[in-house]
Amino acid sequence: MDFLKSFCNPYIKIPNREYIRTHSKTLLPLTAPWRNNTGVFIQDRELVIQLTVKRIIEMLHQQNIVVPTKLEYREKTGHDGARNMAMYKSVNTPMESANIFSKMCVPLSLTDSSSGEVLWKNESPNSSHWCRPLALIAEKESAELLYLVNKVFEPAEKYLQKNGMEFEYNSIKYELNIAIESSMKDLKVRTLETGLGGAGCLLCATKSHEWKDSNKINKIDYFAISRTAEKTMKLYSRMLNGDDEIVRKKNDYDNRQGLTSKPLSISDQHYIIITHQYINGTQWFLKIIYHLRAHILSWSERGETVKNRVKKAREIVVNEIQASTDLSLDQCDSSGNSGTSTTGGQGRKFFSYELRNSIIKAVPKAQQNNFKRLI
Ligand SMILES: [Zn+2]
Repeated sequence: MDFLKSFCNPYIKIPNREYIRTHSKTLLPLTAPWRNNTGVFIQDRELVIQLTVKRIIEMLHQQNIVVPTKLEYREKTGHDGARNMAMYKSVNTPMESANIFSKMCVPLSLTDSSSGEVLWKNESPNSSHWCRPLALIAEKESAELLYLVNKVFEPAEKYLQKNGMEFEYNSIKYELNIAIESSMKDLKVRTLETGLGGAGCLLCATKSHEWKDSNKINKIDYFAISRTAEKTMKLYSRMLNGDDEIVRKKNDYDNRQGLTSKPLSISDQHYIIITHQYINGTQWFLKIIYHLRAHILSWSERGETVKNRVKKAREIVVNEIQASTDLSLDQCDSSGNSGTSTTGGQGRKFFSYELRNSIIKAVPKAQQNNFKRLI
């Protein structure tokens, strides 16, 4: 910096290094090393929110907007891991692991608590550009890591939501209510965090055979969202044998409600990420179309013959949809991982009114009307 300053026009004043450093410290929260030095994380959860809200207030003041002193701030948070990152495997990388795990938050809105007026709103809340890291850790996503990450952040998040916070900015005192949605987690993370082992439903305590029972499906409340993190935690503590192990008995599903291991989170698991809703929704409808085209009127795909018939139908359907809509769905994933190439963006188009009629044409004529009702 000092070197660069020596070239500057003498009329351009750049503050000295120490001043800039001190000022930048007021804008950024402090980071601390994660265990075994595998990453960094922000210890002071409250400070992150405070700095964010101050920046929003500053921006509102610049637009001559009067900011009331009682405010409500909303954000969402979550975490995910990525394995086998090719860029970390290159020869000269300082990374010792090709895994990365991050806990993030995204500011959503700032509202006047008394009038409900929205002062600032995030216009693209699902853009990755808004993701602010709270922890970046070069470790594999595991039950242990999820447990530790939640242990570091969740108590503070719960406390802030319950008690809010007060802070001063430009000698004015502000009172802040805080709402944090724990919505940015995929199904794999949620399944691990609930301790349900993937067999049970994350939202209620019904059993899988009930999900196909049309009498129960027709009852309005039968599948109500009734499973909460609090109930799961209580259930877990009732089932322990003293060594942190769940005691299993024969035919005790009703008591266990599907719980197989320690729950790792104190927040409810009631969301599915929008992107995943689009991807999985698209895959679900595609599977129905493949099966209808192959005249296989069951959901399972057991045996070579059945699998081959579905595979042939899939090729035909995928090509037809590509020809009529330009969507290249359900190809093999180019990263070489198992899974699908279908993206959230493609899913949005799949369910758009513009393309739906073209997609319905891939269904055999006799079933087109029923399919139309379903989609
Ligand atoms: Zn359920």
